[in-house]
Amino acid sequence: MTAIVSTLTSLPFTQLRRNRYFYLWYDGFYLVLCAALIALMVTTGFQGLVPTWDNRLWLVLPVACHLQILCSVFIHNATHNNFPRALNRIVGELCGMVVLTRFASWEVIHQRHHRFSDDVEKDPHPVGPSYWRFLVDTIVNVEHQLQQIYFDLYGDTPENRRYERLRAYVSYGTNLLLIATWFLFLGKVGFFFLFVPASIVGFFHLVHFNWSTHNAFSPSGDFKPVNLDHGYYKIGNLLWFGIYMHANHHKRAGMFNPAKMQPSLPITPPPG
Ligand SMILES: [Zn+2]
Ligand SMILES: [Zn+2]
Repeated sequence: MTAIVSTLTSLPFTQLRRNRYFYLWYDGFYLVLCAALIALMVTTGFQGLVPTWDNRLWLVLPVACHLQILCSVFIHNATHNNFPRALNRIVGELCGMVVLTRFASWEVIHQRHHRFSDDVEKDPHPVGPSYWRFLVDTIVNVEHQLQQIYFDLYGDTPENRRYERLRAYVSYGTNLLLIATWFLFLGKVGFFFLFVPASIVGFFHLVHFNWSTHNAFSPSGDFKPVNLDHGYYKIGNLLWFGIYMHANHHKRAGMFNPAKMQPSLPITPPPG
């Protein structure tokens, strides 16, 4: 019983450290879940939540984008155990399905970001001056770092390299099945008009967040967590629980809203 409670409440990285085959269980669970949901929707002839066009969807689109970003904010809070203890895992998993990466990889990578922030070798997304270069590097680097984390834990052997390659294929395959599940659940219009654009906006926003909050505008390349609260960032802090107060966050990751940290670390002024 305690083992079941611990599986449902402890964070993925904790479980990966205890069990080298954690990911096979994790992906296996999602494979079965998605396959069952797909089978259920197909056999019942479910048409999806939004199968046909309606002009009011233009009003829903910005809400969908906001919710998508909010899921990134909440998956981050879940990563730091900022919800009541029993809820972090479940909030993380639910948000992970919305942002498509699922919770485990998000959390494992983010723990490494805190441990090695701005280390060009070990930070999963070390900042550089160009946003677009950073975006491409992030996509390439995250999978590489995910594998590196496994080798750090269990050794860099040919056998582990083979296992990690297989794990990567299984994980990506599972994500494709998850996307198919969303497609059937939301319906053609809901998927292509709401979910896809909101996911793209959410991804670009997340990358921009990771980039800007590590002092990307610094002319001297002094990349480190900073607090931003000017212009659009001020609105972002109001909408998304102080996420741009990132220097505060790196100092006290256990706060749900780092804007509330007292005393606050200095706020970086607008560049120029
Ligand atoms: Zn950071
Ligand atoms: Zn964090």
